[in-house]
Amino acid sequence: MNLENLEKILKKEPSYRQKQIQQAVFKQFISEWDEMTNIPNNLKEELKKDCLLEIEGEIFPSADGKTFKALLSFSDGAKIETVLMRNKDNRNSLCVSSQVGCAGGCAFCATGKMGFNRNLTSEEIISQFLFFARYLKKNFGDQEKITNVIFMGMGEPFLNYDQVMTAVQILNKEEFIGLGARNISISTVGIIVGIKKFTEEKEQINLAISLHAPNDELRSKLIPTNKENKIKELLGVVDEYIVKKSRKVMFEYLLIENVNDSARHAKELAGLMKKPLYMVNLIKYNTTGDFRASSENRVNKFKKILKKEGVNVTVRKSFGSDINAGCGQLANKN
Ligand code: SF4
Repeated sequence: MNLENLEKILKKEPSYRQKQIQQAVFKQFISEWDEMTNIPNNLKEELKKDCLLEIEGEIFPSADGKTFKALLSFSDGAKIETVLMRNKDNRNSLCVSSQVGCAGGCAFCATGKMGFNRNLTSEEIISQFLFFARYLKKNFGDQEKITNVIFMGMGEPFLNYDQVMTAVQILNKEEFIGLGARNISISTVGIIVGIKKFTEEKEQINLAISLHAPNDELRSKLIPTNKENKIKELLGVVDEYIVKKSRKVMFEYLLIENVNDSARHAKELAGLMKKPLYMVNLIKYNTTGDFRASSENRVNKFKKILKKEGVNVTVRKSFGSDINAGCGQLANKN
């Protein structure tokens, strides 16, 4: 949807009209302007012409019915994936993409293998939310809403900083979607300049860091951007963020068999992570061809060591690996 055109059209209208339309698009999630019965026909026609509501996408559900991956297509032919995870406790979490492909080149990531095509606009990011908000409403009823958004899909959000932050504001502002800041998270591979800027933002958005290795040698092999964003400096800016925001920071750690999941790695990681507002989230790796997931036994041993060393640690449930919708698997494969 062209938000700029929408704004231009609404500028000519009285403020109550603006509210009616924002309410219909961002709260009632209409998919056609004809669903609005409280606006005049000439305005409806103008909206139909200059502000298309249609979002082109195809949905792939997982076998257990808990995860839905959507492949969205944009006007220039670019395609991206976005993933909805339905939890038992009435939470519907949406993992959004911020770029078409990614220049990051991380060894474990299917998106990285695609290379970089282009940044997404804030509208294209928001269209991922609207697409699934409409889908939930249509298939599961009015009460089913997206409760959490995490920027952890295709692309590195801090390499598309301005568009991502504009999208965050649309998600957060009451007159638009009105999702609580604490229900929005940005996950980065640790782009230091991005984290510094993010620390200065006034919104209290959650920060997650994809760490995946406890030392620079291994991390640079897995995450090439580590060469310019070394662990010591990275944790330094994270600590500044914590001082300023007094918020917890989540460190994601994908467990890859015989790569980063030994007892030695766990102890080395514990040495970095033993801080009150640091949380480690262990994620079972979803196979993308080159690496294998750690066994249940190795995951448990790794977690035990971190716990014993006094680190705050959880293991994340894996979603959607059968539809290539798990962490690191998004690559427009369907
Ligand atoms: S993990 Fe993130 S930064 Fe790395 S290649 Fe994949 S999308 Fe890019």
